[in-house]
This record gives sequence, structure tokens and C-alpha cells, in this order.
Amino acid sequence: MDKATSRLSPPETPRSFGFYVDGRYIDAGNREMAVRNSPGHGVPVTKLVKCTPADVDMAVASARKAFDDRRWSGLSGADRAAVLLKAAEVLRERAEEVAYWETLENGKPISQARAEVGGCVGMFEYAAGLARSLHGDTFNNTGDGAMALVTREPVGVVGVITPWNFPFLILCERVPYILASGNTMVAKPSEVTSATTLLLAEILTEAGLPQGVFNVVTGAGSTVGQAMLEHMQIDMLSFTGSTAVGRAVVEAAGKSNFKKLGLELGGKNPQIVFADADLEDAADGVAFGIAFNTGQCCVSGSRLIVERSIADKFGKLVADKLAKARIGDPLDETTQIGAITTDAQNSTILHYIAKGQDEGATLMSGGTAPDHGGGQFIEPTVFTDVTPDMAIAREEIFGPVLTILPFDTMEEAIAMANDTEYGLAASVWSKNIDKAMTVSRQVQAGRFWVNTTLAGGPEIPIGGFKASGWGREAGIYGVEEYTQVKSVFIEFGKRDHWIS
Ligand code: NDP
Repeated sequence: MDKATSRLSPPETPRSFGFYVDGRYIDAGNREMAVRNSPGHGVPVTKLVKCTPADVDMAVASARKAFDDRRWSGLSGADRAAVLLKAAEVLRERAEEVAYWETLENGKPISQARAEVGGCVGMFEYAAGLARSLHGDTFNNTGDGAMALVTREPVGVVGVITPWNFPFLILCERVPYILASGNTMVAKPSEVTSATTLLLAEILTEAGLPQGVFNVVTGAGSTVGQAMLEHMQIDMLSFTGSTAVGRAVVEAAGKSNFKKLGLELGGKNPQIVFADADLEDAADGVAFGIAFNTGQCCVSGSRLIVERSIADKFGKLVADKLAKARIGDPLDETTQIGAITTDAQNSTILHYIAKGQDEGATLMSGGTAPDHGGGQFIEPTVFTDVTPDMAIAREEIFGPVLTILPFDTMEEAIAMANDTEYGLAASVWSKNIDKAMTVSRQVQAGRFWVNTTLAGGPEIPIGGFKASGWGREAGIYGVEEYTQVKSVFIEFGKRDHWIS
């Protein structure tokens, strides 16, 4: 905090973190440290330990012991709920601190980071209720001498590998639900955005989570992450990130212990806008859907599929909206669009903007990298004259780049929406319920929005169809995903002998 102006500013010296095993920080010792520069300011803000595969072994052993001795899974749902509720309370108290470090490492606007942390409090509260209500089934129809129970048991040690776009939100869409049934965990955040995952470890310890139930290893995906994929003592792994690494996750599971997997991968998500929509609302939603988090969302609405009769007018409405969005210092309370999180991602987005023009699309607005002093920023960009075969219309750019594709009939709009390997999310904008519901039924996507976008909450499951992934996170679905079903068949009375 800059005391003279009371505006937030980056720290004068970077904050150092250890990694977290058995309920406490472990110092770097002679391990290397990685320095993270704020993408919004270009100055060093954190120093994190580059863990080794041996550190992964240590963290997994801690989680294994904590699972096997039942210090967490053996508690009642009510006792686990009490810890999750306390975690929500501590997180609420420390929300500003979490939002600050999230903004510094990720580059997202502080107002957005605060809202995300607020949402995460709700996830812990909701998951606490699920810890109490999780239950199985019984079969009382097995004849007078028998009965069957179906129970849900935690899977065991769960590894979670998270990306840099929503380091805290994506973590909290998983952790409380995974903990609700009694699993223990090892989390590996992206090397560039690890601070808030470590803060969550502190918060959980403060809330009374037993030692060893939640551990954090930091460092590169290619070493630390890879060691987790191959680990024989990790029973389930939740991976969120690129489709390319997702394939490596599946391969490694097959070559190791067939660990159960949850995968949330890429998206090239359609926003279908009919001429009968409230066009002002739809334009605002489409602008939000592509520029929120600088388009670095797996669920960003990057393909605008719009009815031809309004395509020009609507494209202009969206471009005008985007031109008014406030880009700049992520620590400024009024900023709406912050920095691009990594240098590599910055280059990727600029590469696609150039490629779109090379392919013959027309750059309607944006496309430049404005200078806001120190950080890396890209203006929201809109392309027209796009054809469905162009790379900018097919590949996940993961940046604020919108492609406009016109359609003539509803059937054509649905076919265009489904013309992708992905199936993560989709939106439709129409005041005609028949059209909206038909489109919602026929578009292949794990999340679907009608007259809104990027909406959800702790109750609502998330996850993808097709190459966007496997499994569901959040809500009761997210809790059940991290359980395994056991059937218990019980006979009573005298056995009917097989050998007499
Ligand atoms: P990655 O898939 O490489 O990174 C996601 C997570 O996986 C990070 O924690 C990363 O660690 C880790 N990781 C990387 N390699 C391995 C590995 N071999 N084994 C285990 N874990 C690994 O995504 P990028 O950060 O490189 O982004 C590339 C593209 O992926 C983006 O342009 C975007 O298209 C897509 N993406 C999609 C996301 C989504 O939410 N669906 C999120 C992020 C990216 P570390 O970062 O420390 O190397």
C-alpha cells in the first residue's frame, strides 16, 4: 500500500514463500527459488521454491499418512463441515490479502480478485453443507434374508494441478468439495501464480484442518507436475489447463496406477445471438464474455455466432462497448481489464492477432498492445470477415480476441456452434424461448447460458463435453466425483448352503 496516496501498489521487496507440508511451511533450504514479476507492473513480487520430485514424495507421503490413519476421513460429516465453515470465516477475514497477491501474480483487476475471493467463501460454506448431507443408498428389495448398502467413500489422496488464469477460484472450485468427503490433498499451482494456494494452506490450518490433509508443492509443471502425474500414491488427479498437457495426464495415468482423473481443458466457446435478442444486453454480455480476465478463461465466449441480418450492427455495438472498458493498472480500483498473465501468453495472443489478418480476416477494433507503464496489456480485439476454417475461429487463443461468424438459420447456428473439438461452454441470446431452449438442448457444452454468460455459483456443476475434459467440479456433483462407490451386500439368518 502506498501510504501517501492510500492507493494499492506492489510491495517494495518480493515476498518469499516456502512450500507447505504437514501443516507447516518448509523453507527453500538449498533448493532454487523462482522470482515472479507482476505482469501488471513488471516488478518482482514473490519468490517461490522450485520443489523437486523428492519434495512431491514428501508431500504425498504426508497426505497418504493423513488419509490412511483416518484423522480426516474418519470424522463425522458434521466435524468436517465445522472446519470448512471456519475456513470460510478465516478466508473472509483474510480476503483482502488473498485478493492483493492474486492480482499481483496474475494481473487481474483488484476488484475482480476481490469478487472471486468472495465467491470462494461461498464455496467453502456450501461444501460444508454437502459434507453433512453426502450419503449413499440402500436396497431393501433383496428378499427377506438380505439387504444391500451403497456407500460413498473418499477416493484417497487427491492431486490438484491448477493453471494461472484463476489461481484461487479454480482451486476453491475443487478443494472444499474434495475435502468434504474426507480425501487428503496435494496441490500444485502454476509456477507463476502460487502465492494464493499457499495462503489457502495457511487458512485451512488456521481453521483447524488436521496436519497433512492439505499440502502444497510449488515449482514447474514439467518436473513437479509430471512427478504428480506419475505418482503411484496419488489415487486421483484433477488437472485444469491445456489440452496438450491433458493428454499427457491421461497417458501417465495409464502408465502408472490408473489414477482416477478429472480434466478441465480448453474451449472455443460460442455465443449465439439471434436478431430477436435484447441487443444492448447481448452486446454487453458478449463484451464481458470475451474481455473478462483478458479473455484468459477456458469458458471465454470467443466465437460470436450472430444472425446475419444484425451482424454488422451488433458487431459495432460490441466493439463500442469494448472500447469503453477501462484497461490499466490491475491495482487501480476502477480497472476492468488488467494485464496478460504470462510473457508466453502475451506472445501467443499477439501472434493470433497477426495471423488473423494474414488469413484475410478484417481487424474491426483493438489489436494493439497499449503502454500502461511496466506491464503487458492487449486491447480487446474484434475480427469480422472470419471464415470457420481460420485458425482464429478454431483454435483456443486464450486472450481478448473475438471472431464474428454470421448465420442464417437456427440449424446453421447450432451446427457452427458444434463445429469444434471442444465442448466447454456456450451462450444463446434470444427472447424467443422456443429458440433458446432448442439451442440449449442441441449445443454440445458442459455449461450453457441463456441470456447471460460466465454465470454460476457453488451449487452449479462445471466441466466439459468432448475434448474439453472429463468429470464435473463443484456442487454435489463435485463432491461425488471425488468419492468411490462401494456396495455392501448383507445376508442375515441361516445361509442357504451351496454344498450340502
Ligand atoms: P499448461 O497446461 O501448461 O499449465 C497448466 C498447469 O499444468 C500448470 O500448473 C502447469 O505448471 C502444469 N503443467 C505443465 N506441464 C505439466 C506436466 N508435464 N505435467 C504436469 N503438470 C504440468 O498451460 P499453459 O500455462 O502453458 O497455457 C497454455 C495454453 O493452455 C493456454 O494458452 C490456454 O490455451 C490453455 N490453458 C487453459 C486453461 C483452462 O482453464 N482450461 C488454463 C491455462 C491454460 P506450470 O505453469 O508451473 O508449468
